[in-house]
Amino acid sequence: MLGKALIIGAGGVASVVVHKCCQNPDVFEEICIASRTIAKCEALKNKLDGGQTKISVAQVDADKTEEVIELIKNFGPDVVINVALPYQDLTIMDACLATGVHYVDTANYEPPDTPKFEYKWQWAYREKFEKAGITALLGSGFDPGVTGVFTAYAQKHHFDEIHSIDIVDANAGDHGYPFATNFNPEINIREITANGRYYEEGKWIETPPLSHKKEYDLPEIGPKNIYLLYHEELESLAVNIKGVKRIRFWMTFSDNYLNHLKVLENVGMTSIEPIQFNGQEIIPLQFLQAILPDPASLGPRTKGKTNIGCIIQGTKDGKPKTYYVYNVCDHEECYAEVGSQAISYTTGVPAMIGAMMIIKGIWNKPGVYNVEEFDPDPFMDALNKHGLPWQEDHSPTLLD
Ligand code: NDP
Repeated sequence: MLGKALIIGAGGVASVVVHKCCQNPDVFEEICIASRTIAKCEALKNKLDGGQTKISVAQVDADKTEEVIELIKNFGPDVVINVALPYQDLTIMDACLATGVHYVDTANYEPPDTPKFEYKWQWAYREKFEKAGITALLGSGFDPGVTGVFTAYAQKHHFDEIHSIDIVDANAGDHGYPFATNFNPEINIREITANGRYYEEGKWIETPPLSHKKEYDLPEIGPKNIYLLYHEELESLAVNIKGVKRIRFWMTFSDNYLNHLKVLENVGMTSIEPIQFNGQEIIPLQFLQAILPDPASLGPRTKGKTNIGCIIQGTKDGKPKTYYVYNVCDHEECYAEVGSQAISYTTGVPAMIGAMMIIKGIWNKPGVYNVEEFDPDPFMDALNKHGLPWQEDHSPTLLD
């Protein structure tokens, strides 16, 4: 099955998507890399041109639906892979609706002024996508993304009932800088400085930022401090995994990272409230982003591994059952393969696989869906094949 993909964005994640599409010319016959800064698209094209996948580039401001519509009309893709920023989700979905083209992203829509991490705006498009006969696949990165596929796989093959899900996202990578974020700093810092939240017995329980801490001994990484955060897949899993009683999300942070973040927060650098500076309005967090290392530049410097997975408890055949499914990814191996570190790699590979599922017609039903709403098996097979092999543990240590 051959198809054409329009990739919007040319940052860290987009670079991996482009590499991975080019590794699969039997599916991605042609791609167009479109972003705000065309030089970044051209740099990617120059790196990968000459293979079987035909590559073109375009300049687009994806905040403007009309520009995206025109680009889609000119290029004629089967699917749009949105790996720009969450602020562009709705304008790109509108353009897909106007042109009848499938849509894939890796992060929920965010209004620029308030961090929300909610699906409501995108779920509101369900009927429109159904009527248009096209698929919107939401959150096809790693988390959200593979964590939802892992959960759907556990539900299909290992449980009659799932009672609790703990998603643990660990990064034991070291880039050698005193402080840097592994993906877009603005999105990353907004996520971490927000209140924590988890789902229990039908309710959402809020916790102050980074106030819940535990130690967990992760396979191939070792013991790490993990902190409870809210993460967007909790919202869709709470709806889609019937009968689940508790869902939590945990992420590792080093003491050094948290100390830097605390200071930046205390001095107001993580604020998204605009301020006046030298007669100009600036947003402190955006200014901070401008002075921090570009996540794309961390690739050659980062050593160590990531481990992201789901620890699940429930019942099977009337007996209690536990199951842990996870992927370990090596930063240096990712860099050797596609020139990016593991954070971009673990997001870009599932974005490519999501688009592949749609082009091949395997995950193709009109409407707006999160990844866990599809059959997980073909996606799980594709993870093993395309660089994110997963492992299982049937008696993991549990988080109390
Ligand atoms: P980067 O900041 O590296 O790249 C973002 C790209 O989007 C840049 O090329 C930028 O262009 C482009 N862009 C921004 N605004 C526009 C616009 N209005 N029109 C066109 N292009 C635009 O981000 P990442 O690659 O790190 O992240 C990409 C996405 O992946 C984000 O949405 C992020 O939240 C998500 N993500 C998801 C994860 C998951 O596991 N689900 C994990 C990590 C990230 P320019 O170069 O001109 O600024």
